[in-house]
Amino acid sequence: MYPPVHLRFFCFPEHQILLIFKNAKYRFIVLYPYMNLLIIGGGIAGTTCAEEFRKLSPDSKITIISDENHPLYSRVLLPHYLLGKIPRERVFLKTEEWYAEQNINLVYNEAVKLDATKKIISAHDDKSFAYDKLLIAGGGKMNRLPISNDKRAHHLQTVEDADKLLSAINERAGGKTEAHIFGGSFIAIDFMKIFSHFNFEINIHIRGTKILSRCFDDDGSAFLLNQLEKNSVQIRTNDPCDTISETADIVGIGIGLKSEFSWARDAGLKVESGILTNEFLETNALDIYAAGDCAEYYDIAVGRQQSAANSRAKT
Ligand SMILES: Cc1cc2nc3c(=O)[nH]c(=O)nc-3n(C[C@H](O)[C@H](O)[C@H](O)COP(=O)(O)OP(=O)(O)OC[C@H]3O[C@@H](n4cnc5c(N)ncnc54)[C@H](O)[C@@H]3O)c2cc1C
Repeated sequence: MYPPVHLRFFCFPEHQILLIFKNAKYRFIVLYPYMNLLIIGGGIAGTTCAEEFRKLSPDSKITIISDENHPLYSRVLLPHYLLGKIPRERVFLKTEEWYAEQNINLVYNEAVKLDATKKIISAHDDKSFAYDKLLIAGGGKMNRLPISNDKRAHHLQTVEDADKLLSAINERAGGKTEAHIFGGSFIAIDFMKIFSHFNFEINIHIRGTKILSRCFDDDGSAFLLNQLEKNSVQIRTNDPCDTISETADIVGIGIGLKSEFSWARDAGLKVESGILTNEFLETNALDIYAAGDCAEYYDIAVGRQQSAANSRAKT
């Protein structure tokens, strides 16, 4: 893929066009001097879109609807915060002031309904937001298990999850602690790193027989499991993952993400494991795009639909 080329119409200089090349294909996107861009999701995909769009279009209206009551923070940095490598404030990548300086309207609310014909998003409290172009960048929600409701159980997706986990770890620190991890995805590996850092005894429960099965073949996965066992990690394969041992002190659950976009499907958008887009992140509805973990985009490198979230997450 080549970098986008930013051009101007010679006859309508106030209009700008963005020429995007992807190998032999290209797309013209006309950027009008004023556009009302609405973004659902204030994570890295949504915020980066807002930031880049502002550079291209200084006068446009940009609104981000975020159902997390924070400016952008990095989920990737959450394990570093838990390991004590960085202070909590370093997890945050933007401040409220940054949005004001960029003239980006950050609204803490939840999008619940889409009218793709009238181009309106309705939010949780009946507020509605009109748009010219809509980007859905809502990420995914952690899959939960019935045992997720146990008071010893932790997920790790939000900064609040990390705060809660850290306080549970601090309560145990110093004493003998039996930690149980359910899942064999990247988040399960993060739990492993965190628990081993605090010298907890580690037990892993996997529904199948492989770990990081999206990355490793049978031999690679067997090698990794073997190395973990050599390092005193107890591994239980073919585990139904439906009960927590009475002796467990702390539990981490990392079993992948799911996209919950029934409101997008109800509005006629094609949704499979994510919101379906072509290689230009265009959905099947006019002026609606999807990006980040919630999108299942056509990847020209491999010639099929891909979902970044699921390729990382499945165990
Ligand atoms: C602990 C942890 C470690 C990770 N480490 C790595 C790593 O090392 N490398 C890597 O590549 N990736 C890593 N990831 C994954 C990475 O964080 C995600 O791929 C990335 O955050 C996805 O960004 P996103 O903007 O698509 O979605 P998200 O970050 O999930 O943001 C989406 C936002 O939209 C909000 N939202 C959803 N629906 C609505 C709605 N209806 N209305 C309003 N708001 C809504 C969500 O609450 C969320 O705030 C890690 C993830 C975690 C949890």
